[in-house]
Amino acid sequence: MREDRELAAKRLEMLEKQLRRRGITDEKVLSAMDAVPRHKFVAEELRERAYEDAPLPIGDGQTISQPYIVAAMTAALRIKSSDRILEIGTGCGYQAAILSRLGKEVFSVERRPKLAAEASKRLTELGYANVHVHCGDGTLGLPEFAPFDTILVAAAAPAVPKPLLAQLAEGGRMILPVGDEENQLLQLVEKLGNTVLTNTLEGCRFVPLVGYHGWQNPPQR
Ligand code: SAH
Repeated sequence: MREDRELAAKRLEMLEKQLRRRGITDEKVLSAMDAVPRHKFVAEELRERAYEDAPLPIGDGQTISQPYIVAAMTAALRIKSSDRILEIGTGCGYQAAILSRLGKEVFSVERRPKLAAEASKRLTELGYANVHVHCGDGTLGLPEFAPFDTILVAAAAPAVPKPLLAQLAEGGRMILPVGDEENQLLQLVEKLGNTVLTNTLEGCRFVPLVGYHGWQNPPQR
């Protein structure tokens, strides 16, 4: 179909201009970003804009992150094919689909029931059988499925949620945006024995992580 060809061309351009040129070099991450049809994760009327260098609305006042941020966070995690991955903030399920192509299993938690149900249905229809969507407060993690080799938090936290650090495997890595409502910095946290190494990466802007170990009284959106 013509539309599909046009969107595939836009996806290739996104890989080249937004990812490779900005320093994403991990071929596995690039091939996952090439393989996942981002336009199938947004509403029909936004399909044409799916490969733009910008976040897009996904309903309920939430957003799907800009492609570059998805790729940069994924690359920083250095995911292995045997990894069990925890994602907090499923949203439309796009980031979960990318993670599912790199690791073994993805457990993704979304607090908004409507988004969780839609993402779960979409991921099943598109064949991402190794993604399991849970509805609830992701700041508590998923203790019954812990430990996780890698954790990605897709909403802005005031600080690293303690349960998530506890559920990170020995030698594991977690990436999350930490900061206030306006500005955050991506932090890469590595757990090595009794030590926790934290590296601060680039600036970003996410919707708030709302929950017991996140923002408890966020401004209404
Ligand atoms: N990764 C998503 C984008 C996430 S936007 C994608 O690819 O589309 C952030 C999401 O985090 C929103 O859907 C929001 O509802 C969710 N969220 C915020 N606080 C949460 C919490 N405590 N637990 C689970 N999900 C949360």
